[in-house]
Amino acid sequence: MVENMKKVVKFGGSSLASAEQFRKVGEIIRSDKSRRYVVPSAPGKRYDGDTKVTDLLYQCYELAEQEKDFSEVLEQIAARYQEIIDGLELKLSLQEEFAKIAENFKQKAGKEYAASRGEYLNGIVMADYLGFSFIDAASVIVFHKDGSLNTERTRKVLSARLVDEGYVVIPGFYGAQSDGTVRTFSRGGSDITGSIVAQAVHADIYENWTDVSGFLIADPRIIPDPEGIDYITYKELRELSYMGASVLHEDAIFPVRKEGIPINIRNTNRPEDKGTMIVESTCHRPKYTITGIAGKKGFVSITVDKDMMNSEIGFGRRVLEVFEREGISFEHMPSGIDTMTVFVHEDGFAQKEQRILAGLHRVVNPDTIELENDLALIAVVGRGMRATRGTAGRIFSALAHARINVKMIDQGSSELNIIIGVKNEDFEAAVKAIYDIFVTVQL
Ligand code: ASP
Repeated sequence: MVENMKKVVKFGGSSLASAEQFRKVGEIIRSDKSRRYVVPSAPGKRYDGDTKVTDLLYQCYELAEQEKDFSEVLEQIAARYQEIIDGLELKLSLQEEFAKIAENFKQKAGKEYAASRGEYLNGIVMADYLGFSFIDAASVIVFHKDGSLNTERTRKVLSARLVDEGYVVIPGFYGAQSDGTVRTFSRGGSDITGSIVAQAVHADIYENWTDVSGFLIADPRIIPDPEGIDYITYKELRELSYMGASVLHEDAIFPVRKEGIPINIRNTNRPEDKGTMIVESTCHRPKYTITGIAGKKGFVSITVDKDMMNSEIGFGRRVLEVFEREGISFEHMPSGIDTMTVFVHEDGFAQKEQRILAGLHRVVNPDTIELENDLALIAVVGRGMRATRGTAGRIFSALAHARINVKMIDQGSSELNIIIGVKNEDFEAAVKAIYDIFVTVQL
């Protein structure tokens, strides 16, 4: 280990759900002196069917807003923390904090204030347990009035505040506007706090500790026990997360990416695993041609057909404007000489369908419009595909062998991904066929 290295370590809710989990976290932090900046989430689920503290806080505040008795739920929350404090044999008391919270709930301090208390209190417990200083995120993470992060101000305030600090705990998920109103990120937002802190202190690495050993090549609900991903680039991760592979909050990438700080996804329950390194770029050869496979069901394709379409300037723009006017974003748009197909999410499209069809008839006067629903999109992603011939060939012959009909193919010019459209019912079998041809046969 290099002396003077600086690491930011963020721990997710399941890593901090009980005293036992706190102890594992304590060991991880104490085993490496460079783990100096700790960003905790609120206590998560201890077992299947348990409720996260953040959800209890939302419930509790809802009662407060309706001027109903919320004391029972608040006591339940206090008991969660007490269990941790007792289990760790700390002398800390949160009684005054809870009295203040109850008072603020009565004054209707806001839903975001309510939710933020989960991280705030866990930060206090964590700092006490580790003997680190506690910094309230409300004093260093600055939000605009519209709820977005004030990036510039946060960077200034946070860097200035941390410059002389040795070992600190900064709760995740929230901050405050300059008038003191507490604001939160969207759910899972402690990942973003960790990233912002890493950027502010120019960390060498941002370790994000959770309950899985990083990203997997495919969804374990489809492929039993899939292989893990050692190295993934930010770009590859964007492609995979967009298609449903979720371990990290999407917005957590941007602050560290700008600074070239790698993110290491680690497993609190298996600290011996190296996890996944997320990096800007790497010369680490991927073990397989593909880095990962992800996908989603529930798309519709709208195919507009018109003779001589390709000579009609502005045709594509007019088609897309119809979708734009209805607030529908499109996913992919493969085209032929006389056809153009637009893929959209079934959810938003369904209620607006007839208006969109009417709009298309009006603006481009097509010969036919065909709709097909129940489609799934699969992204096969990998920086290794760029340098390899025959990747597409292998994918399509695997799908053909599995008797799966391919509805759409789209390869981005970055050659980083190939998107395949299949029927919803073929989705799992298609993922399996692709996984097998690239991973299983290589093992
Ligand atoms: N506790 C918050 C949530 O449950 C934020 C987080 O855990 O990152 O969404």
